[in-house]
Amino acid sequence: MANQVLSAASCRVFIVEDDPIFADYIRCILRGMDIPSELSLSAEDAIDKLAEDADFQLILLDIMLPKMSGIEFASYLKQHQQLKNIPIVFLSQLTDHEQIIKSYDIGALDYITKPVHAELFRAKIKSLTQNILANEEFRAESSKYQHLFNKLQHVILSCNDGLLEVNEQLEIIFVNPAATKMLDLAPISYQGLSLKELICYEELINIDWQELKIACKNCDQSFNKQVQFWHRSADGQKRLLSLQLLITEQSKKHFYIQIADITPKGSQSDYFYNSENIDPITGLVNHNCFIKSCESMLKQNEGGQYSLALIVVNIARFSAINDRFGHSVGDRILKRVAVRLKLVLSAFDVISRFGNDEFTILLDNKLRWGVSKQISIIENLFTEPLVFDDVAVHVSINIGIAMFPQCGASFSLLYQSAKIALESAKEDPVKAYYFYNDEIDQISRFYLRIVELFDSALANDEFTMNYQPQYNLTTGELVSVEALLRWHSPEQGQISPAVFIPIAEESNYIIPIGNWIIERVLSDIASLKHLLSNKIRIAINLSTKQLKPSNLSNLVQLIEQTMSAFDFDNDMLELEITEHSLLSNTDDTLAQLDKLRDKGFGIALDDFGTGYSSLTYVQKLPIDRLKIDLSFVKMIGKDSKTQEIIKLILELSKSLGLTTIAEGIETREQFDFLTQMGCEVGQGYLLSKPLTLERLTSALATTPAVFTHRLASDTES
Ligand code: C2E
Ligand code: MG
Ligand code: MG
Repeated sequence: MANQVLSAASCRVFIVEDDPIFADYIRCILRGMDIPSELSLSAEDAIDKLAEDADFQLILLDIMLPKMSGIEFASYLKQHQQLKNIPIVFLSQLTDHEQIIKSYDIGALDYITKPVHAELFRAKIKSLTQNILANEEFRAESSKYQHLFNKLQHVILSCNDGLLEVNEQLEIIFVNPAATKMLDLAPISYQGLSLKELICYEELINIDWQELKIACKNCDQSFNKQVQFWHRSADGQKRLLSLQLLITEQSKKHFYIQIADITPKGSQSDYFYNSENIDPITGLVNHNCFIKSCESMLKQNEGGQYSLALIVVNIARFSAINDRFGHSVGDRILKRVAVRLKLVLSAFDVISRFGNDEFTILLDNKLRWGVSKQISIIENLFTEPLVFDDVAVHVSINIGIAMFPQCGASFSLLYQSAKIALESAKEDPVKAYYFYNDEIDQISRFYLRIVELFDSALANDEFTMNYQPQYNLTTGELVSVEALLRWHSPEQGQISPAVFIPIAEESNYIIPIGNWIIERVLSDIASLKHLLSNKIRIAINLSTKQLKPSNLSNLVQLIEQTMSAFDFDNDMLELEITEHSLLSNTDDTLAQLDKLRDKGFGIALDDFGTGYSSLTYVQKLPIDRLKIDLSFVKMIGKDSKTQEIIKLILELSKSLGLTTIAEGIETREQFDFLTQMGCEVGQGYLLSKPLTLERLTSALATTPAVFTHRLASDTES
């Protein structure tokens, strides 16, 4: 096929030569090569003939023609759409140097000197025609591909599904218009952002970044997990979007991600705002609507575990910008600022244009590190100027922040506090944001730093486990140990889990940390199996995020795999869950816990008494142990009401067939009271502090697993 296409015979040659004898001579050679040719004795005649038939692959053109010269004729050809691509080879006397140079300037392919030597002429024509035809074939192929490319480009640019192109590191390379619209990306540059950064402020439902990266790395075509998240778009609607990684054989380090809108029908309408509540310039809610939303959110969060943050953002020198660039640019700036701000908010934050050049944001359920992170992102949104047509406007902002409930319990108090903070920000030429209260700023920075340190803590094995024995209070027998996480950070020193676990929860790091705990605890306990004469239970604390149905199924899988790898029976493991975590999880969680119990795992309700569980609620829970919180135990001997409550809890527990554990036993008085009241199991500094694995191992090796010795010799420090 290739040879046939490339044979000289598929080439037609047009000759312009005023010497008929010479012309006949070269036509004769061409005929001998099976190359058809046409002849014109003048440029004028050639123009007429080519107007009728331009299907030639080569023009042999005499430089010296009467009237219109060869060079002039070549210039004419180059100006005509249909003729300009036909290669020209000049025929010239050897002495025509100047003309030959000119011919190259015009775009001649080559030249042949007269008189021609038949053999040389043949060889040259053969090589020229082959090159020309190869070029033509290449052009035809390219145009086929160009056509296909245009079609694909059209599909990618106009389809309703969003498409992102990413590399192996999940960094964004290309975003199609549908994805730009779905994710409200239009005003920002996504170049250099990773997918994780792009959607980090969405409400993610299920995502495992590591899993996605591994799938890309291995070009795993069978990978078909969908990631879902809620996105609140610039038009005030909340949409459920799904991301699906498309990996094909051709992927080779570049992957496509399809984004689809899978919002259930009817769920959008809740998020539509009535037009009288909307600011017509920015499309954000206005001052009235914002205050109403805030008041209801503050009410819902009264006594809540998390803080809310009211943020006031003010555009610096906005009136000067208005004066200089005019009101229409001013309005466009407000619009752009609104879109940029929205971009960094989660689906549940509220943002408004509160007035003139002031925007307000209520950040929902963020721990303080989250606020700090968001503030630095908001600040960075305005490092690049906003460009309108060809005018670049540098916009700078000042930010005031007030935390709820610390800086005020009502909207008006919070707003006043945030405005005071804003004034400080306006006066400071360097720092663009101020918290109402300096201490909060410091705490928030600390929280942010802790989150930054989690990765290295995991990578450098900075976490360890301690084990606190739990004893049968009547027989003194060791019945179980509770695994407690410890973190010694080289930078921050020893940090209490009571401090960092909630931060790990909020930042989702609890998932990898939680997995690490399972593997470490079971491998630790496996190492001292030979010292355990009786079967003891290992209690592991689970936190709220780990109990979310989507996370829990992965966790259960990991637990089962690790248990069987170390050859443990399921009834050796007890999972401690808190009342709080059950309150914020669903029936699905309860169903999954129920299944775990069916498989023989133990479930304990930790910190009992600190939540709001009613007795009937406890009855429904799939648990076998109840842990009385140490805040109750502390009050023994000090507060008779608390003692009554402990009695009630013990009775309740007994009637439900549950075992009760008292935690935080520090004194002999507490111990005696609990034993008399029939509490079966206890833990606390009086009996044993949490021990490192080494100390637990040596304690088990040297003394029987009974605490009576310790009680006799009293506590160790
Ligand atoms: P928790 O599960 O209620 O653990 C009991 C806490 O009481 C532990 O604090 C323990 O060291 C402490 N404690 C034990 N006996 C006494 C005593 O006699 N007096 C006093 N004052 N305290 C005593 P720790 O280890 O600081 O843990 C605090 C909380 O952090 C835990 O409360 C638990 O909610 C969380 N946590 C600890 N380790 C883990 C873990 O591995 N995973 C998860 N998700 N949470 C953990
Ligand atoms: Mg516990
Ligand atoms: Mg507890």
